[in-house]
Amino acid sequence: MVDKKDDKSAGQKLQDTLCLQNKDLGTIDADLLQKALPYAEDYKLFLRNKTEREIVDYTLPIVKKFGYKEFKLGTRYKPGDKVFYNNRGKNLILVTMGEKPVADGVRISVAHIDSPRLDFKPSPLFEADEMAYFKTHYYGGIKKYQWTAIPLSLHGVLVLNNGKTVKVRLGEEPGEPQFCVTDLLPHLAREQMTKPMNKAIDAEQLNVLVGCWPFKDDKASQKVKLNILDMLFKKYGIIEKDFLSAELCACPAFTPTDLGLDRSMVGAYGQDDKVCAYAQFRAETETKHPEYTSMMVFADKEETGSDGPTGMRSVFWKDFLEDLGSAWGCEIRHVLRKSLCLSCDVNAAIDPAWPEAFENNNCSFLNYGPVVSKYTGSGGKYSTNDASAEVMSFLRKILDGAGIQWQLGELGKVDVGGGGTIAVDISVHNIDTVDMGVPVLSMHAPFEVTSKADDYMLYRAVYEFFNSKEPKDF
Ligand code: MN
Ligand code: MN
Repeated sequence: MVDKKDDKSAGQKLQDTLCLQNKDLGTIDADLLQKALPYAEDYKLFLRNKTEREIVDYTLPIVKKFGYKEFKLGTRYKPGDKVFYNNRGKNLILVTMGEKPVADGVRISVAHIDSPRLDFKPSPLFEADEMAYFKTHYYGGIKKYQWTAIPLSLHGVLVLNNGKTVKVRLGEEPGEPQFCVTDLLPHLAREQMTKPMNKAIDAEQLNVLVGCWPFKDDKASQKVKLNILDMLFKKYGIIEKDFLSAELCACPAFTPTDLGLDRSMVGAYGQDDKVCAYAQFRAETETKHPEYTSMMVFADKEETGSDGPTGMRSVFWKDFLEDLGSAWGCEIRHVLRKSLCLSCDVNAAIDPAWPEAFENNNCSFLNYGPVVSKYTGSGGKYSTNDASAEVMSFLRKILDGAGIQWQLGELGKVDVGGGGTIAVDISVHNIDTVDMGVPVLSMHAPFEVTSKADDYMLYRAVYEFFNSKEPKDF
C-alpha cells in the first residue's frame, strides 16, 4: 500500500499549506453538476420572465405560497414571520424576521431584475418603404450590432385613457409572431464593414420590423402602419396616442436553454442579473428562522444608473426598512450601521478568446464558484464601493465555514474599461457592502452564458449569508 500523502514532495506540501489554490467545482465534487440540475431547471423558468415587471408578476404568487404576507405598517412581526413589499410592480422586497431584533441589523441581499434591451420611444410607430417599424431607444450598455437579425419579442404595459392597463407579452410562446431589427446584407455592406464596431449600427437604425401588409383602402396613406394600428386596436383597444403612456420594449426572444454537449451551462437572455436575483430569491424563500432578519431586494433600473423611484438610488428600500423597525422605535441609522449587504451582481468570466482584457491572477473563471468582487468601478478605483478587509473577512468566514468554494474577481484588467454595481448606492447609506455574483460569458449580449454549478453555489452562498449566526463586530 502506498500512502498517497507521502507521495507529495516537501514543496507540494508547502504549496498546499501556503498557496491560494482555486479549483474548479467539478474537481472538488464530481457530482455537483448533477445536484445543480433541478435548480437549473427552475432557474430557466424564472428566466422566461424578461422584464422587471414580469419577474415581480411571476414571483408574487410564489412568495404568497411560501407564507409571505403583505407588509403592514406598525406591526411587530415575530421571529420567523415573512413579509413582502411590492414597490410599483417593479421591486419586490422579501423579509424573514430574525431571532434577534431588527435593531441588531439586517442581512440584506440586492440583485437587479432589469436587463439591457430595446425600449420603445414614446411615439414609436412609423412606416418606411411600405413597412411598419417601432423606433427604439436602447436601454443599458449594449453592443448595437448584436441586436440586429435576431428574433425579438415585445414586452410591457400601456395605460389607456380609460385607466385600463394592457399588458403585452408577444413572441415568447410557440406559435406567436416574433420581430427583429434588420441588418444590411454583406454584398452591399462594403462601407459598413470598414466602420468601427460602435459605428457599424447607428442607434436610430435599431428599428423593430412589425409588418408589411397594407390596410385595404384606395385613399388612406401609410396603409401598412394603419393596418398595424387597426390590429392593435382590435386586439388590445390601443390607439396611437396610448404609446405616450406606455412602457414597451423588445427583448431577445430566445428561450433559456441548456448549453454545451455536457449541458453544464445555461444560455439565455438577461442572466445579468437574474442569475443573482433567482439565487437570492431561492435563498430567502427557503430561510425559516434566521438569527438576524434577512431581506432580499429586487432592484430595477440598474442598467441605466439606478435612478428613478424603483432604482436603488431611490429611498424606497430604506423607507421600508425604517417602517419595519419603527414598530419597535428603532432609529433607521442605527439599523443601517449594524446591517450587512450583499450586492449580488455578476462579474465577467475570463474568455480565452479575449485574453488581452483579463488579468489571470484576479479575474473570475467559469465553474469556480461564486465570485466575490471587493470592488468594481473604473480607472483609479472611481465610482466603487471598496469592501473593507473586515467585510471581506466576515464573508470569507461564512463561505469557508459552510464549505462553499468561491473565488475572487476583478472586472478585467485595470484601465481596459470598467463598470459599477448598486453597491455604491447601498453603502452610501452607511451599510457595509460587498459584491458577490457568478462569472458570465458574453455579458450584456442577447444570449449570455453561466455555469449551472456556479449558479447553484451562489444560491447556497446567499443562503449561508442569510442564515449565519456570525455577529458583526466591526
Ligand atoms: Mn448587473
Ligand atoms: Mn449589467
